[in-house]
Amino acid sequence: MRVLIERFIISSTPAWRVLLAVFAATPFFLIVLLLHGWAVGVPEIRAGLNVGVLYFSQSVLVLAIGINLYATFWLWPRRYLHDALPRMTLLVCLSIGVGYTVVTIQSGTFTSPPNLILLGILAIGLLLFERHPMLISYVVCVGLLTGYDLGVILGYWSYAPALTEKVMQGAAPVWWFGAWRQLVFVIGYVVLTSLLLLLFDRLDQVHAKLRRLSYTDGLTGLANRRRAMEVLHNEVARQARTGQTLAVVLIDADHFKQVNDQHGHDMGDKVLRSLGKLLMGCVRSPTDVACRLGGEEFALILPDTRHEQVEAVCARLREQLAQLSFGEGDAAFKVTLSMGVVEGTGQDAEYLLQQADLQLYRAKSTGRDRVCMAHMAHMANGAAT
Ligand code: GH3
Ligand code: MG
Ligand code: MG
Repeated sequence: MRVLIERFIISSTPAWRVLLAVFAATPFFLIVLLLHGWAVGVPEIRAGLNVGVLYFSQSVLVLAIGINLYATFWLWPRRYLHDALPRMTLLVCLSIGVGYTVVTIQSGTFTSPPNLILLGILAIGLLLFERHPMLISYVVCVGLLTGYDLGVILGYWSYAPALTEKVMQGAAPVWWFGAWRQLVFVIGYVVLTSLLLLLFDRLDQVHAKLRRLSYTDGLTGLANRRRAMEVLHNEVARQARTGQTLAVVLIDADHFKQVNDQHGHDMGDKVLRSLGKLLMGCVRSPTDVACRLGGEEFALILPDTRHEQVEAVCARLREQLAQLSFGEGDAAFKVTLSMGVVEGTGQDAEYLLQQADLQLYRAKSTGRDRVCMAHMAHMANGAAT
């Protein structure tokens, strides 16, 4: 069920969602039409009905069904399009909304559940994620209901125009009107509840997607700087409690400006994506985090990691990078990395970053393509010096 909801409703295109609204509303309108037809044929019920008004509301429903069918034919070939299809959405929202409103008015604004129906329209609109058609339909339907009620209060026309006074027997309605109200209420309630559930599911999805986007670097798919800082602060606090060692590796591609200048910016981006993949493959997820801090600068945050283990990670990274070559033929080239490593317990995040940055600077200034560690042996080209 959840798969069905996610597949067909949550991740569907706007056109699909309009089609689903048509799919949900049309059976209700057909049931109403059928019941009206049946009611007119039963003498006992017909006596309680104002048949002229009933035929008018039936023609509104037929028109709404016609518009929905037209929308279906128009939308079906366009169901995979992602554009908003604003006019067709408005047409469908309006025809469904006005259909419901007319059904509400004909049997009494307060004795059938109009608020529920209007809320339903609101939920449908929100579910479609199209504010404009939803708002316009909402205003039109509330306007119709309020206008009609005002006319009733001022004595221009009667309340529940499709019904005669024979419908009420003392304080209680006759059986068929009671059953009719129950039917409208139950269908409205089920539709509304389902729509709200779908709506919240959709909101959850959108929320999760935004959260993922706000934590992800668009080019490489690695964690971004924001996420890196959050993880670093959390890990610093955790390591202070556990007494374990936290390692941070700052990584900067060497002479990357030249890569862009000589091979083009697109090739530069390709190299950055490959570096991202490489970093992702070198860490133990989910405890370790590889991130792109910006430009051609990356970082690894490695909790519970001692210096031999960081050395191993950096060596593995360098080895794998050494096997990679970018570009083709005569234009093939290699990329190297400089890394600054720090590991410690109890220091704060800023201090760790500062120390790692110092080590990175040392790696750059002593010739690049190397790993430098704070308080540890200095390695050049993979070998300790
Ligand atoms: P160094 O070895 O001292 O680090 O030299 P460098 O050229 O790598 O350093 P510098 O900081 O001077 O240049 C970084 C370059 O990275 C500059 C910029 O063109 C490039 N760069 C930054 N972000 C991107 C990006 O998203 N895509 C591409 N293709 N290039 C980028
Ligand atoms: Mg740089
Ligand atoms: Mg650089």
